[in-house]
Amino acid sequence: MCGIVGYIGRQDNPRLGLEALKRLEYRGYDSAGGAWFDLGKRKVSVLKAVGKIKRLEDKFPDYKISGRPFIFHTRWATHGGVTEKNAHPHWDCQKNVFLVHNGIIENFKDLKENLIKEGHRFVSETDTEVLAHLVEKFFQGRLEEAVRKALSLVRGTYALAIIAAKDPEKLVLARNSAPLLIGLGQDEFFGASDPSAVLAHTKKVVYLDDGDMAVLTPANFYIQDFKKNRVDKVIHEIDWTLQEAQKGGYPHFMLKEIMEQPESLANALRGRLITEQGLAKLGGLELVEDKLRQVERLNIIACGTAYLAGMVGEYMLEEYAGIPTETDLASEFRYRKPILDKKTASIFISQSGETLDTLVALREVKRKGGLSLAIVNVVGSSVTRETSAGIYNHAGPEIGVASTKAFTSQLALLALLTLFLGRQRQMSFVMGQRLAREISKLPALAAETLKKTSKQAKKLAKKYHKFNNFLYMGRKYNYPIALEGALKLKEISYIHAEGYGAGEMKHGPLALIDKNFPTFAICPTDSVYEKTFSNMQEIKARKGKIIAVATEGDKEIKSVADDVIYIPRTLEMLTPILAVMPLQLFAYHCSVLRGHDPDYPRSLAKSVTVE
Ligand code: GLU
Repeated sequence: MCGIVGYIGRQDNPRLGLEALKRLEYRGYDSAGGAWFDLGKRKVSVLKAVGKIKRLEDKFPDYKISGRPFIFHTRWATHGGVTEKNAHPHWDCQKNVFLVHNGIIENFKDLKENLIKEGHRFVSETDTEVLAHLVEKFFQGRLEEAVRKALSLVRGTYALAIIAAKDPEKLVLARNSAPLLIGLGQDEFFGASDPSAVLAHTKKVVYLDDGDMAVLTPANFYIQDFKKNRVDKVIHEIDWTLQEAQKGGYPHFMLKEIMEQPESLANALRGRLITEQGLAKLGGLELVEDKLRQVERLNIIACGTAYLAGMVGEYMLEEYAGIPTETDLASEFRYRKPILDKKTASIFISQSGETLDTLVALREVKRKGGLSLAIVNVVGSSVTRETSAGIYNHAGPEIGVASTKAFTSQLALLALLTLFLGRQRQMSFVMGQRLAREISKLPALAAETLKKTSKQAKKLAKKYHKFNNFLYMGRKYNYPIALEGALKLKEISYIHAEGYGAGEMKHGPLALIDKNFPTFAICPTDSVYEKTFSNMQEIKARKGKIIAVATEGDKEIKSVADDVIYIPRTLEMLTPILAVMPLQLFAYHCSVLRGHDPDYPRSLAKSVTVE
């Protein structure tokens, strides 16, 4: 999820790796490290530091070190806290194999248990370390052979760069669902997560695909799949500037993150659905599974966009898990007198896990002896340290201040939680299967949604960005999405926007509507379709312009809406995840067209650590 750099070639200066790693700094990380084959000592040396790359740099000795090949890494912790021990590289018992890894090894527990039985000694809490010991187990002199055998036992996602003291003329790279490429320099090769790390040295890159393993020597390289079939690749010439490369070719992080949603949803779901049995498997809740069976009431507590995710969760949990649920703003919850009892559990949602109001509310629940669960993206953050149990998003770092991929990932986790708690209660096996099946389609549906709505959202932004007021309305599952659409528009384009439950229009906001006050109606074909539809007619009768978000195939909606954005069909409870995407895109383009920087909106910070 974060950054990898590898090098083999004519230069023997590991600081080169450090410089390349700095180019990946923008990806976000919590610690950094590197390892190189020391040409003098004939062994591998390692440096690691928690925090910024600068702290790693400060640990480098003053004198020139000469080493190659080398590997460097920025970590975004997924398993094990943010400590120097857990920072990469990791190595085996003999200090022969050294590797850096981005991603998650799903079956690391079983692998680790077996390796320990076989006598391997572990020093970190990471999932990654099993890889080093597995490679050690199979190592017989040729690093690539050992890596191939090791990876045949591994389930999960990885970008890997590996070196071995006993086979020092090689750098091995491997990829499965995490970005990795080879930079082709002059008598030198790089491994890197994205082109920005290598742009200072070369513009020629070869992208690795899932299942590829690359073996690099100072003179040459080849790529094979895990069955040893040779794979031929195209060499790409990168003509991006460094800035463009850091944003994956997109002009802003926010757009990159919006477009990453199919991937972040896949990461949220990976290994967590047992579709045949209609179950959700949430490792982070195992310890409290029995307590959760006793729970009769839920509070969801969060701020901002996470709060709106919580509101969608409330509808999901009540309808499918049958548990009375209330959503509360953390800043309200902490100052009122919440009535908690032994049968109430509180769910805290925070991307950063550092949101102060959420954290203080969590402490309040703990003080009263309540059971707390958390949905958090940043591993090892304060909320994750203090909660009784939790689920990680695994959405990767989100850099744009306005949350996008973290939001849809929170919704996916709430859907999983609904399935999990529902099946502990009255939800039937068949319904469980149905939910699991529909949830598992989300990454593909998200990709389809983005593909079909991207251009149109931009066109609509061109048409509407000069309006100074917007109304967003929706019902039931899409009421919170109306709020989120309005919030996105406000925060990055500074256009005044209000979100309303469509049924509330007559109770006030309808008075605002005229030809200068357009409305976004979130109106998929669901159980409240007709109701929202008639609210749209009321708006039309007042000459209000309407942009509708509707389900593919709904022709009727065109009779009332000025513009229609179609999203693919899915289960009603999952429509918010798709419906929000064109709203994110619309807000993004309005911001750009109005001359603002959507990544860094004025007066706002990414992680709100003050009250
Ligand atoms: N799962 C690994 C860890 O927690 C790698 C995380 C990353 O992608 O940086 O150390």
